[in-house]
Amino acid sequence: MAERLQKVMAQAGVASRRASEKLIAEGHVTVNGKIVTELGTRVEPGNKIEVDGSPIEGSEKLVYYLLNKPRGVVTTASDEKGRTTVIDVLDEVKERVYPVGRLDYDTTGALLLTNDGELANQLMHPRYKIDKVYVAKVKGVPTNDELKALRLGVVVDGKKTAEARADILRTDRKKGTSTIQLTIHEGRYHQVKEMLKTVGHPVIKLHRERYGMLEVTDLASGEYRALRHDEVQYLK
Ligand code: URA
Repeated sequence: MAERLQKVMAQAGVASRRASEKLIAEGHVTVNGKIVTELGTRVEPGNKIEVDGSPIEGSEKLVYYLLNKPRGVVTTASDEKGRTTVIDVLDEVKERVYPVGRLDYDTTGALLLTNDGELANQLMHPRYKIDKVYVAKVKGVPTNDELKALRLGVVVDGKKTAEARADILRTDRKKGTSTIQLTIHEGRYHQVKEMLKTVGHPVIKLHRERYGMLEVTDLASGEYRALRHDEVQYLK
């Protein structure tokens, strides 16, 4: 349903209706990229409304991307040290997306990015137990007892981790390393690295191969794709 621009702006929390009218009259507001100064202008849901170049809450088309995050990229929108961010990697995405959760600078793999704040908050809530499947190359070869400890929970920062799945995929006896698959549904800080360090097997390399149902096997490092409608529905 079409609504007056100043009403939509006020409802989105930009400013009061009166102050929004002033912003419009002074040429601060664009609708679908065009400056609008006419106060009676009506806008439709889905129209892109920007105030001084910033889209107002809820006026942007909702978009969802899966990225195979490369190494050496930070999972933030901007970096004070000027390092490449995941937003820089999504160079063809016009919408203002942000990452759901984070992967370390040196971790690769599945990362969801969206401008759907509601879904992002839901997915990051601890109650929402989404599986995250990691493949870690570690020093040494975990014993059965160590694998059992990983599965049942280990104490990290004074708190036990939730139950997890942990299996050895490969071992390289010559190099003294092994490759572990670890499935967790929590998202604590450096959780995988901390869990493996706690059982005596520091991580050398870490990759997240799956986030919920979203796998990055078909994406090269640094590649991304829009989610399909059914994938978005599944996450919701
Ligand atoms: N756990 C970690 O330790 N690092 C990550 O990047 C993700 C999970």
